[in-house]
Amino acid sequence: MTIGAIPYGRQSISDADIQAVVSVLYSDFLTQGPAIPSFEQAVIAHCGARHALAVNSATSALHIACLSLGLGPGDWLWTSPITFVASANCALYCGARVDFVDIDPRTYNLCPEALERKLLKAQRENRLPKVVIPVHLCGQPCDMVRIHALGQRFGFRIIEDASHAIGGKYQGEPIGNCRYSDITVFSFHPVKIITTAEGGMAVTNAPDLANAMSLLRSHGITRDVEQMTHTPDGPWYYQQIALGFNYRMTDMQAALGASQMSRLGEFVAKRHTIAEHYERLMADLPVTLPWQHPDGYSGLHLYVIRLQTERITRTHPGVFESLRKQGIGVNLHYIPVHTQPYYARMGFCPEDFPQAMQYYAQAISLPMYPDLTEAMQEQVVGALAEALQ
Ligand SMILES: *Cc1c(COP(=O)(O)O)cnc(C)c1O
Repeated sequence: MTIGAIPYGRQSISDADIQAVVSVLYSDFLTQGPAIPSFEQAVIAHCGARHALAVNSATSALHIACLSLGLGPGDWLWTSPITFVASANCALYCGARVDFVDIDPRTYNLCPEALERKLLKAQRENRLPKVVIPVHLCGQPCDMVRIHALGQRFGFRIIEDASHAIGGKYQGEPIGNCRYSDITVFSFHPVKIITTAEGGMAVTNAPDLANAMSLLRSHGITRDVEQMTHTPDGPWYYQQIALGFNYRMTDMQAALGASQMSRLGEFVAKRHTIAEHYERLMADLPVTLPWQHPDGYSGLHLYVIRLQTERITRTHPGVFESLRKQGIGVNLHYIPVHTQPYYARMGFCPEDFPQAMQYYAQAISLPMYPDLTEAMQEQVVGALAEALQ
């Protein structure tokens, strides 16, 4: 990407955000202080789940979420091939195996019919998944009612990868209330909807899962007498009762996150305004615009268009390259995970998930972030029209 290019995503930082971080720097705690529970409370208040655990990334949140559900060697985890690699890697960290479920060609999310077919086959072969991770791609919620019903019927647990989706709604309720899942995970990377620079959070309604994740976040150490094997040796005492990690978020990050949370509604509303303007600008171009399921209100983390490749002469890489040359920082979300060499070595073939491959051959993420102006959008669409010539 050239200097001065319009990126595909970008954080929006206010003076209040900066002040929030600076005040932590002047305080007694840079980490393990009061900003962490404040941020967790802000997310809980927004999404309506009972427990929240701030961690240093969504990748860490996915890892401890899987471990808390008991995922381990001999188990399977299924997810969508159209996601960031982290949604699948979390299974491998636990020694479990990964498989994928093809996407719905309209929402680009894990397809519930394909999931049901694959579950029936897996049942016959005695290799049902222990955990399924639906990913709310671009912020559009998955068909959680159906996925949850399949979970009840086939006995799997559900982690929603809502890295793109904080601030969105499913059937009128906030994503992250965990009505249809065990755990929901958010990412706060700068391109996502709110940011803590690096950071993530796991939310759940189950106290046992919250407790397990709380231990795993910080070395498996507890200071809670109730959880100890014997009474404390003294006031200094703590016990390590599980094997955990250092996945903690800092207080500087949490203060930034809490400050960003106060603008969450504004951020998502602005993304919708941008999407509506894109729709007007691109109405006559040979591209398929994002389809929004009526059950959902998307967080609109990404704005993915699909090229109607049969209607244009330039190739998909040709259009992409032309946009980049014109200073538009387009991207592609995502390279199907099963085609990554690390996964291909496990035996996956590109054709295993044909809808994912078709999507990959046509998708382009256009710039989408709150500070994108109408003039910049017009520049983006002008460049796209040029690239499609
Ligand atoms: C960004 C992202 C992650 C990982 O988030 P980090 O906070 O960077 O670890 C996981 N899943 C999806 C779908 C993502 O987009």
